[in-house]
Amino acid sequence: MSYEIKDHILDVAVLGAGGAGLRASLGCAEKGLKTACITKVYPTRSHTVAAQGGVGAALGNMGKDDWKWHMYDTVKGSDWLGDQDSIEYLCSQAVESVIELEHYGMPFSRTKDGKIYQRPFGGHSTENGKGEPAHRACAAADRTGHAMLHTLYQQCLKQDVQFYNEYYALDLLKDNNNEICGLFAINIQDGSMHRFLSKITILATGGYGRIFQSSTSAHICTGDGAGMALRAGLPLSDMEFIQFHPTGIYGVGVLISEAARGEGGYLKNSEGKRFMLDYAPHAKDLAARDVISRFISIEIKEGRGCGPNKDYINLHLDHLDPKILAKRLPGISESAKTFCGVDINKEPIPVVPTVHFCMGGIPTNFRSEVLIPSQGNSEEVYSGLMAIGEGACASVHGANRLGTNALAELLVFGKGAAIRAYEVLENEKNNNKTPSQNQTDEIISRFDSILFNKGDISAGQLREKMQKTVQSRFGVYREENTLALGNEELSRLSSDLSHIQVKDKSSIFNTDIIEALELHNLMQISRSVGASAINRTESRGAHAREDYPNRDDDNWLNHSIVWMKDNEFEVTKRPVRMTTISNQAKVIAPEIRVY
Ligand SMILES: Cc1cc2nc3c(=O)[nH]c(=O)nc-3n(C[C@H](O)[C@H](O)[C@H](O)COP(=O)(O)OP(=O)(O)OC[C@H]3O[C@@H](n4cnc5c(N)ncnc54)[C@H](O)[C@@H]3O)c2cc1C
Repeated sequence: MSYEIKDHILDVAVLGAGGAGLRASLGCAEKGLKTACITKVYPTRSHTVAAQGGVGAALGNMGKDDWKWHMYDTVKGSDWLGDQDSIEYLCSQAVESVIELEHYGMPFSRTKDGKIYQRPFGGHSTENGKGEPAHRACAAADRTGHAMLHTLYQQCLKQDVQFYNEYYALDLLKDNNNEICGLFAINIQDGSMHRFLSKITILATGGYGRIFQSSTSAHICTGDGAGMALRAGLPLSDMEFIQFHPTGIYGVGVLISEAARGEGGYLKNSEGKRFMLDYAPHAKDLAARDVISRFISIEIKEGRGCGPNKDYINLHLDHLDPKILAKRLPGISESAKTFCGVDINKEPIPVVPTVHFCMGGIPTNFRSEVLIPSQGNSEEVYSGLMAIGEGACASVHGANRLGTNALAELLVFGKGAAIRAYEVLENEKNNNKTPSQNQTDEIISRFDSILFNKGDISAGQLREKMQKTVQSRFGVYREENTLALGNEELSRLSSDLSHIQVKDKSSIFNTDIIEALELHNLMQISRSVGASAINRTESRGAHAREDYPNRDDDNWLNHSIVWMKDNEFEVTKRPVRMTTISNQAKVIAPEIRVY
């Protein structure tokens, strides 16, 4: 079909209006750059709104703290796969970024003397793991993401960021030299087509938890940015590392934040035993997430799960003061009541590990510029392309993210991307590039082929099959045979993409075509997860291989880099960056990881 296409000429196009996209848009607009923020949902509906527990920063408001301890905990939490320059940047900049957010008007909970309230969170300690748990999670009750997203959105409106709400981006645009020069999107409200022609494009499209059947992530978390990157010939990094949060509500997958354990909650098995006291004698119920998820899985596997089918664990809050629960965990009280009929003052919440966060994504340096990974230590970057937030891999979380570090990442790297974009545009004064007409035609013909395909299966049906496969083959524990089966099944299911029928052909709010486009991204991402997972023959962080139970630093102190070539997935490696930016921080050498 022929479509009328509207062009928008910009300095910066930010794709995504979660915490990362909004913080970057705000920073760019404050610098006077012509900035558009494009988002498939209304900004305040982005998944960031659901974040509960807190944002990590070593403010030291409720006990001694130091950003270098935060850095140590994050490197250890990452099981040494995190890039240490990025982690230094995160931890050293988080303090200023949170105070800035406070000054933007964020309604944090407060201590008696009016400071930002901070609670303990899993894996966060003092004295480089030797001291007491750190009070580091800056919180607005258990609705921190909600408060953050609204604060940032209001500031963006104040700075006149141009919002394109309910626009769905299909693909990155390239010029005739194959350089990125913006993105192509469809306006969901009326079906019109748009090219956002930008000197710099910032991808902030969030995670891809929805490749799994049960996930705490919103249904919009379909990894569209990662799909766009793969189609543009760019690789993804560390896709095998998927975080299972230890406490998703049994049967529904809704999150019960680690804040619950930060406020004194604990886990018990069917024998009424606090099993984490044995597994992690120091950190107990506040060990890192990968560690607790593995132990819950073991308790269930060995027959000590609760309930008639012995397939969940109990999270107790009923020993805590009801007044504190009402004040500090109102959202959790409500979720427990709504989703499993539990009054947290009287009964435990049934929980199981549930997919929660994607450590992998589009590889970047600590300045948020997208890397062209090579076998060596080269840090070459794609001109004009940046990535931030959960969809990026900077990599601050390595093989396992510590709670509260994602929100900190959004603020620090969102702001950092804006600073870098301004620097690049100041120095280069580069002009907008002209998009290749052939490539625009290809994007439209891909869209048409999906819309007008005469198939016999709906996107929803195929998605369900894909999610079942991913859920059952790529779980907390993995091994060669199941991973291979998963990969074969996904390869078969992926050929069914050409059998999808989009029934709705209209141009107004056609959610049928959006779902089909999202499924194309989900499928490619699932396959990159499977290819990376079978390739990594060791256990590290969230990637637990039964057939390779140990961490293998000799062979695997490397990021996995996965490329899509002719619809097949190829995995290479990139060394972990074991360097720091300043001499204030020291490289933290690998150790055995115990809590
Ligand atoms: C239930 C829950 C609780 C959490 N709690 C915490 C916490 O307490 N502390 C913490 O640190 N972390 C927490 N996390 C993790 C953290 O919230 C996320 O990692 C983070 O919010 C992701 O932010 P983002 O800006 O990268 O993406 P998102 O907030 O997911 O936003 C993605 C944006 O991209 C847009 N987009 C995507 N694809 C397209 C497309 N094709 N076209 C146009 N727009 C597109 C969407 O519209 C959206 O605006 C939690 C996560 C969940 C799921």
